[in-house]
Order: sequence, then C-alpha cells, then structure tokens
Amino acid sequence: MKTCSYCQEQQPTDRAYCTACGKSLSLAGETSKEEVVNRNAFAALGLLLFFLTLVIFDGVATFLFGGNTTVSLLSIICYAVVLCLSVLALRFEKKKMVNEAQGNVSLIIAQTMMSILMILINLQQLMFRG
Ligand SMILES: [Zn+2]
Repeated sequence: MKTCSYCQEQQPTDRAYCTACGKSLSLAGETSKEEVVNRNAFAALGLLLFFLTLVIFDGVATFLFGGNTTVSLLSIICYAVVLCLSVLALRFEKKKMVNEAQGNVSLIIAQTMMSILMILINLQQLMFRG
C-alpha cells in the first residue's frame, strides 16, 4: 500500500492513479512530503509571529507607550522575520508543486504582503517622530 500525496488515501502500490481523487500516484509525491511539512511549518510560524507582532507591538505596546521608536523598530524586525519565513515557505512551494497545500500559497502571499505593509506603516511612524 502507499499513500496518495493529494488526498492521503491508502492506495494499492500497483496503481498509477488514485481511486479516491484521480490524481497521479507518482513517486514524486512521496519525496515531497517532508518539504510540504517544512513549508507548512515555515508558513505557520510566520503567521503566528505576524499576529503576535500585530497584537504585542502594534497593539498593546503602542497603546501603553503611545508608540515609541523602540516599539516600531522591534515590530519592523519581527515583520522582517515573518517576511523571511514566508519567502522560505514559498521557496519550498516552488521546488515541488503539491496540490494538497496549494490553498496555502495565497495565504502565504497575503501574509507576505501584510508584512510589507506593516513594515511600511512602522517606518512611516518612525519618520514622523524622527
Ligand atoms: Zn488521492
């Protein structure tokens, strides 16, 4: 038996196409599993850090301290890390196109755009104060 990399159904080894979803059961799908896990980990970590930064630095800290230079700098650094994680996630995606998680790509791109936007907002706040 082998597992379909698209729908995770168990399939007989001699089959060329998955009986559940009709996708090709090529060997390429098996080796990519680790990369999918890696990419999803990067994407999840990036998303988590993004929201943490949004809440902690742009939310709570800005509310408490009225937004100072340190808070803006810290949040820019955090968003930069989110950007790196998103790029890493997309790099894994480029290497191997796996259908199963393709819905996540738009999420990763959205996350990347949001990070860039938040960096720009914080930079603007820095310049206003400076
Ligand atoms: Zn399948």
